[in-house]
Amino acid sequence: MKQKKYLLPDSEIPKQWFNIQAIMPNKPLPILNPATREPLRAEDLFPIFSEECSRQEFDRENEWIPIPEPVRRQYASYRCTPLIRAYELEEALGTPAHIYYKNESVSPAGSHKLNSALAQAYYAKIQGVTNVTTETGAGQWGGALAYAAKKFGLECAVYMVKASYNQKPYRRSIMQTYGSAITPSPSMSTRAGKDILTINPNDHGTLGGAISEAIELALSTPNCKYTLGSVLNHVCLHQTVIGLEAEKQMEMTGEYPDIVIACFGGGSNFSGIAFPFMRHNILNGKKTRFIAAEPSSCPKLTCGNFTYDFADEAGLTPLLPMFTVGHGFKPASIHAGGLRYHGAGVIISQLMKDGYIEAQDFVQTETFEAGVLFARTEGIIPAPESCHAIACTIKEALKCKETGEEKTILFNLSGHGLVDMSAYDMYLAGEMRDYALSDEELAGYISEAGKLKK
Ligand SMILES: *Cc1c(COP(=O)(O)O)cnc(C)c1O
Repeated sequence: MKQKKYLLPDSEIPKQWFNIQAIMPNKPLPILNPATREPLRAEDLFPIFSEECSRQEFDRENEWIPIPEPVRRQYASYRCTPLIRAYELEEALGTPAHIYYKNESVSPAGSHKLNSALAQAYYAKIQGVTNVTTETGAGQWGGALAYAAKKFGLECAVYMVKASYNQKPYRRSIMQTYGSAITPSPSMSTRAGKDILTINPNDHGTLGGAISEAIELALSTPNCKYTLGSVLNHVCLHQTVIGLEAEKQMEMTGEYPDIVIACFGGGSNFSGIAFPFMRHNILNGKKTRFIAAEPSSCPKLTCGNFTYDFADEAGLTPLLPMFTVGHGFKPASIHAGGLRYHGAGVIISQLMKDGYIEAQDFVQTETFEAGVLFARTEGIIPAPESCHAIACTIKEALKCKETGEEKTILFNLSGHGLVDMSAYDMYLAGEMRDYALSDEELAGYISEAGKLKK
């Protein structure tokens, strides 16, 4: 029987995260204070984030950062995650390519996001913090943080965009089951929320508004820290456990990936699977291709500009040097909620600029077609976000079919779609539509990048 899954024992759970900043040929540009345009230091982030996460954000020296033992112990309840050879998918495509996927959907939260949530909760806990807070749109990050907070004995308050709160009751119940308090945003519990509700009492909420509420709560509550599930350097760092394990598992297969693929929201699962392999491109002359798969309706890497921009819609955060379609960008309400983000993380943006990363974009019906084929061949129903990585993998595998090349493709299955079945229902009923952006629309948003709100 041909070997299908590659597993590692608990002793192989990584003991260190890989910090690509230490070996980047060109270091990322500094993060700026929007008022003074001066570079920020780690201490400037202490009021908002835990001290250790703030330090990791700026660490360009240490290539390897130890994973605290209590975090490793929590990783052990779902890591190491399996690496699977997708024989049935290969067969259905008739491709000579060898397709492997790293299955991050096996975490209790159902996605890779727990890899960073556990680290962020732990670092908050050990500095004496009692409460963590965040915002959530689709609810995946909120669910991961709710679980991590429970594990480390923290109270967790999540601001959930009111429209999602009402439309996605199961994600809300997941967070509540793990013991978190969920507040639909805008709410009357913060100044920011009151301001929004004063203008429009029926406001359905936005991610930007929810961020403002969560940051206000963190700043105004003693012993409360804010957390973020993507984009930031420390989040990408924590996700490298994915690629470090995959590196060992690929060794077991006797192959090395020619192409590594992941879907792209802010870049955390992409960084996680890609950076440990990219290390060998930078240091050892390997020629692996790294492809980020993003939605056509939110195309920061394929169509965006490299410029300074805010990390949030409201323009409250520091300025980040990023590929962005502008912080005022209003993406269409595609089902892959986790990919509706206007910018790419700072590290990835620099690596993209330096030619280490390629990007491709996909319309959502194409991604669901790929997701359904994957479900019918490999069995797992993928998250709508992960469907983008699968669509990209299929495209590359079909190119191999044309050329007869037996390439090795590795992609990250970032999460399962079992709480997203209403989206599959729409696709199967033929009711899903695609959203096209005109060049003019895009240019308008991009020109607003980095501009201060009055
Ligand atoms: C949040 C999420 C993403 C997108 O975030 P990244 O930081 O770009 O990885 C992708 N897949 C799943 C399942 C998610 O929950």
